[in-house]
This record gives sequence, C-alpha cells and structure tokens, in this order.
Amino acid sequence: MRKSIILWLVLVCFIASPAIVFASDFSDRISGLVKVQGVRVYSNGDSKVRVVLDSSGPVEYKTFVLSNPNRIAVDIKGAWLSPTADKVTMVEGGLVGKVRISQFDPTTVRVVVEANVSKDRYKVFQLKENPAANKSNRIVMDFGDLAQDDTPKAATVEEATIAAVPDADKVVTKTIKLFDTPGLKDKIIAIDPGHGGSDPGAVGPHGITEKEITLAVGLELKKMLENEGAKVIMTRISDVDVAYANATAKDELQARADIANNAKADVFVSIHMNAFVNTQVKGTATYYYPKTNGDERIARFVREGLISQLGTDDRAMQTCNFYVVKHTTMPATLAEVAFVSNPVEEQLLKSTEGTKKAATGIFRGLDRYFSYE
Ligand SMILES: [Zn+2]
Repeated sequence: MRKSIILWLVLVCFIASPAIVFASDFSDRISGLVKVQGVRVYSNGDSKVRVVLDSSGPVEYKTFVLSNPNRIAVDIKGAWLSPTADKVTMVEGGLVGKVRISQFDPTTVRVVVEANVSKDRYKVFQLKENPAANKSNRIVMDFGDLAQDDTPKAATVEEATIAAVPDADKVVTKTIKLFDTPGLKDKIIAIDPGHGGSDPGAVGPHGITEKEITLAVGLELKKMLENEGAKVIMTRISDVDVAYANATAKDELQARADIANNAKADVFVSIHMNAFVNTQVKGTATYYYPKTNGDERIARFVREGLISQLGTDDRAMQTCNFYVVKHTTMPATLAEVAFVSNPVEEQLLKSTEGTKKAATGIFRGLDRYFSYE
C-alpha cells in the first residue's frame, strides 16, 4: 500500500506542475456559469485511476452509468467548458479507457469515462477550493481499488502533490563541488524562459502571457550575467517552441534540459509565472528536486532575491518532481516569479521596471549561489 501511494504521488507530481494544472484562460464567468478548466488524469497503472475536473467554483453534478461500452458519466450543471481544455484524454493501463469532456448543452458540461467497473469500484466526490495550496474547486472521479485511500485521505494526497517530492527520503542527494572560484565570472549559467511558441503558458486577466514575461526577464538576466563575465546558455531567445513547432510538453521540457546538460552548465534556472483561478492569489515560490547539494541552495537564493526585489509575498520553497529540475544534471530551480493571474502582479511583471526587478532578483540569487555564503 505504501509503495502504491508513492507511485501514485510520483505520477501525480510529474503531471501536476502548476502551469499545467491551472490552464491558461481566466475569463472566468459567463453570465453566472461556473467555468470548468479541463480534465487532469492520474493513473497508477491497473490499480487506480483518478480523474480531476477543475472548476471556478462549487458545482451541482449528477453521476450516471452508460452501457455498451460501459462508461461512467458526470453532468456538471450551470457550467461552461474552457475552450483550451483537452477534449479527449487517453489513459494507459486496463482500468480506464478514454476520458471525454464536452459542452453537452449551453449550461451543462459532460464528462464521460470509459470504465468497465462495478459500483464498488468507482466513486465521485467534490473538493472545495484551497487557495493556500493553489487548488481550485474540483470534482474527483476515482476508479479501481478505492480502499487504497479513503476520501479525506485522497484529498490530502492530492493537496500534497505540489508541495513535496513524494519519495524525498529516497532521493539520493549527490554531493558535488559547486565551484572552484567564487563569483559569476566564467560560470556557465543556463536560463530557461518558460513556455514559448505554441505554448503561451498562463494568461493574465489583461491578456499578458506567461511566455512573454519569462522571455523578457530571461533576456534582461542574460545581459546582467554577461556583464559579470558569466557564460549564459539560453533555452530560447525568441517566441518559439524549443524542441520543434507544436512540440509535445514532454519533448519540449526534455529539449530544455538537454540544452543545459549538453552545455555542462553549472546551474540551471527556469523562469515561470504562476496562475490560479482565484485572481487574488499572489506571491513568489521556487521549486527544486534535491538531487545534489546545490539544488536547495539555488532555489533558496533565487527566491530570496526575487522577494527582496519585487516585494512579493513569500510562498516558500518547495520540492517537486517538475521535469526540468529533475532531468537536468546540474543544480536547478524553477522559479514561479509571481502570479500572472493576479492583475497587480501581471501589471508589475509586464512593466519594464518589474522585468528589471525580477531579473535583478534572480541575478542576486545566482551571485550568492557562487559565493562562500
Ligand atoms: Zn509556467
């Protein structure tokens, strides 16, 4: 059981980076309807599958069974479906087939899950919004071995996924030499402006995209570092997909890790903007995967640098299995600089002054990282 929960968490954490969780459309309500952001699916093979539907508020829903083939369906009343939602999701393993979501009628969103399961092998329940944990209101459909965790425990599992590396005690933290001489001069620094090209990332209430902010901050940071004699490797310097046009999320993230790995960078910083359905949520967070003695160090200094420059709320430093920080070979951090979904932070980061402050914050963090502090 313990093992299956860990596997579950690994899968959940891998898939559930905030940028993916909180899809990129914040025109929240149409005449009182609740917005359904889309479907997230977590699977731990043949024993359990969880389907999560994020919505902008509490909903009324009805569960029913369709036959031939067997399907479990949920109608969400008084709701509209985000145009950016994936309409069909394939699920691997034998338990659940396709998951489809559609606007069934003008005020009903319907989700249909192909699942040949008896009544005691699935359940549907609703979880309330939890802004502190970056969680929107959501309907959860569980399939398979329900005894693996009961409802409240399942909720905790889901809440915990963003906050922690599930198998943190099992991660082997390698001790490496962080630098020979202190200072930024001659250090190879990989900067990854998040998203780009076909992937705008999150979009703020005034239409500012995450990808444009991350690029502006990244280019500004590059200048600052080069002025100090650092060698800067950028994963992108314009509005493009890094792997290839319309790249899949995994290929795109792998391409970014490859660039840093091939350049044998000393450190890797991925720049992102956070987003959440509740536009009041704000602040700065950094993430890392504790693979070396340098990962927590770079995450800490970058976070402190950003907060001191931008004056943002501290949303802390967290471990996670985000792809780019896990698959880079050098110490790495992913910075969620601020919330593009928060109108104030969106405006701040869009401005030249805000861009400079964010770049300066990361620059200060890197400068401290390559010091004896
Ligand atoms: Zn992002």
